[in-house]
Formats: sequence, structure tokens, C-alpha cells
Amino acid sequence: MKTKIAVFLMAVMAWGMAMGQGSLAPTPAAHPKVVIFYSVGIEYDHLLFAQQALQFFTANANKDKYTLVATTDWNQLNDEFLKDVKVMVWLDDEVHSQAQRDAFEKYMEGGGAWLGFHVSAYNDRSSKWTWFRSFLGGGAFGLNNWPPLPAKLVVEDTTSPVTKRLPQSFEAPSNEWYSWTPSPRLDPNVKVLISLDKSNFPIGIKDVIPPTDVPVVWTNTKYKMLYLNMGHGDKIFTSDEQKNLIEDGLQWLLSRQQTATGK
Ligand code: ZN
Repeated sequence: MKTKIAVFLMAVMAWGMAMGQGSLAPTPAAHPKVVIFYSVGIEYDHLLFAQQALQFFTANANKDKYTLVATTDWNQLNDEFLKDVKVMVWLDDEVHSQAQRDAFEKYMEGGGAWLGFHVSAYNDRSSKWTWFRSFLGGGAFGLNNWPPLPAKLVVEDTTSPVTKRLPQSFEAPSNEWYSWTPSPRLDPNVKVLISLDKSNFPIGIKDVIPPTDVPVVWTNTKYKMLYLNMGHGDKIFTSDEQKNLIEDGLQWLLSRQQTATGK
């Protein structure tokens, strides 16, 4: 009898240690790790988006079963820090050094996953990081509308796990939309999920995007990546459709299988 009690007590103690400090909450370490990189010394409208995105992902972490780490220290974008990261998110900025560029390439080529918003994909024709442009589907930044404006979006594929909760089109709240040259749609590996509806054009007042093909959400199927052009100002999360899109986009990346090369 004493032995049975001792075994029982040891089991209780082990359970208590596993749960940590007597808390009944499940240990977050069991969930895949999502790391958000963002910056603060940036365009104010991009910071507003980043702050709301941080709140959104934090609020969903338990329900959607991931452990969230957020940092403004882009030097953490290195092999050691990334080795147990399932999905990396860039909210409002991109890497700053060659070491970070190298670590990102290695992470993605090794099977890591990336969710990028708005300015995080910015590159222009003078950018020397050709791998990154190719990763995005070959497009350099083209034009943007100014001021930020709402737009009608076409959901080109409503069967994708990313867009499964979206209608075939919806009104997106105010955003600064980017066009890309050439359009990433021309890359045979790119799958465009959402684009600007033709009825928006020309869009802008001070700066205008003329009628053209403007993909807004896409994936390069060579990688576990998803890019969303939303990310300017404090209206992005006023749309239920966009909240569903962003939540399902992250869930899709979290669900992607490990590859033979790593993650
Ligand atoms: Zn912007």
C-alpha cells in the first residue's frame, strides 16, 4: 500500500513539474514556435499595423496552438535562434545585414516557413538581394496608391486552406497597395490567391496605380511562404475577412509538413 501511495505521489509531483509551478495551463513548449520580427523606428502607419498584429497573434496563440515569441532584435535571425522555429513572421520590416540575409536564406531553403506583410517584401530594382526577389516571385516594388484607400479584392481561389473562409470577393479596408514589376503571377511557381479587382483602377489620388495586374496575396510554391500586402495603418483588423485570412494563413504554414532537409 505504501508503495502504491509513493508511486502516486511521484506521479503527482512529475505532473506538477511538467505543468510548471503548479499551474494548470498546458505547457506552451508543446506547441510549435512562431517568431515575429518587427521594428519600431519606422513609418508610423506600419508601426500601427504591427502593434495590432501583435495583439491579434497573441490573442490567438492559445486557441490556434502555437507559442509566440516577438522580437525587435533582428540579430536573433540566426541559425541557433531559428533551429526550433516553425514559422517566422515579418510584420513591418526586413533583414538588415548580410548575416541575417544568409540565415534567412538557409532557414527557408532548409524548409522553414515565412509569413510576410506589406513593406516586408519591399525591394526595388537597385536591391542586390536577388535571392529574395526570386523567393517573392520575381517582382520588384512598382507603384503604390496614396493616400491609403479601401479596395475590392478578388479571391482567385476559395479552396485554398488560406482562403477557405472568404467569399469570392470582398471590400478590404484602407491600405496602401503595392504593384509589382514584373507581376509575381508570371513566375510559374507562384500561386496568386487574392488580387485587386479591376473596378478599383485607377486607384489613388496623389499617387495612382493605373489598371494592371496587382496580386495582393500569394505563395511561391517552391517554399513554405505566404505574402500578404495588407499592413498599412490601423484599419487592417477591422475586416472579419482579413482577420480570417491572416489567422488561416498562419495556420496553413503551421500545418505544413517537415521536409527531409529539416523543419
Ligand atoms: Zn505602407
